[in-house]
Amino acid sequence: MTLDRRNFLKTAAVGTAAVTAGAVGLSSCTPAPPRCTSKAKLKISFQEGIAPGANLYERLDFMEEHGVVGLEPGGRGLRGRVNSLREALSGRNIKISAIVAGFDGWVIAEEDETRQRFVESMQEIIIGAGELESTGVIFVPAFNGQRPTMPHTMATRDYMCEVIGRLGDFAHSHGTTVIFEPLNRREAFVQRQVADAAMKCRDIENAGHAGVTCMGDFWHMTWEETCDYAAFMSAGKYLQHVHIASRRHRRMPGEDGEYDCYRAGFRGLKMLDYDKYISFECGTAGDRYETVTAALKLIREQWDEVIV
Ligand code: MG
Repeated sequence: MTLDRRNFLKTAAVGTAAVTAGAVGLSSCTPAPPRCTSKAKLKISFQEGIAPGANLYERLDFMEEHGVVGLEPGGRGLRGRVNSLREALSGRNIKISAIVAGFDGWVIAEEDETRQRFVESMQEIIIGAGELESTGVIFVPAFNGQRPTMPHTMATRDYMCEVIGRLGDFAHSHGTTVIFEPLNRREAFVQRQVADAAMKCRDIENAGHAGVTCMGDFWHMTWEETCDYAAFMSAGKYLQHVHIASRRHRRMPGEDGEYDCYRAGFRGLKMLDYDKYISFECGTAGDRYETVTAALKLIREQWDEVIV
């Protein structure tokens, strides 16, 4: 076939479009070998607004009926909710997974008072997290919009690791952890990749502290990781929690169709014998009962397809 200039440009344009479309979901779906020896468990958790229902009790009923075993409450006002959460979970096969955010200030704020508010509010949440036997309290070092913030330097990183190390010790003494969450560049440029968060955990542990862990969020990983499998593997023993959402619009897994492939990440989790929670953090564009039910089915199918 003769490839004249016009046809060449057409072919190149199609190729470029295909690469662009594929660039969002870099995770590959590798064919599975026959037998799974992983000790990993699929423990699904929901943040409080995920399940359909008019109140927490109705949502917990839905979760139990659908085999969801973790609840991830927000951290704001957590200590005042400890008894009511215990009561709501009493007699159910659902435990508190992680606690998400809810603190004031941020750890690398320029102003002393803002940093102090971060530490004090985190301590309050950590005490509540310990009482609820949570896996940990999720935090972000600084969102892009939080100003003024310390400069992006080694000294700032050292300072952050020192403060988080002390918070980790505090969490450890309360039977829980603090969990670094990497976000995508549009939300928190200061910490974007799972491996970077895990490296901070390792440095902090090497400095003699306990109780500092990290997590991966499939939504943010879509934009920041070249390989979901490698990202989770890089976290190793420090991986304490996972968030999941669809990969184009942060809705229920499956709402973005073919983009919602989690198999490569699940392969990493299975290789690690991961037994913590995978927690839904997303909205929906459809009927909540239907999209949540379909998402649970999709995740279980993809999890079972991965054999390591
Ligand atoms: Mg998240």
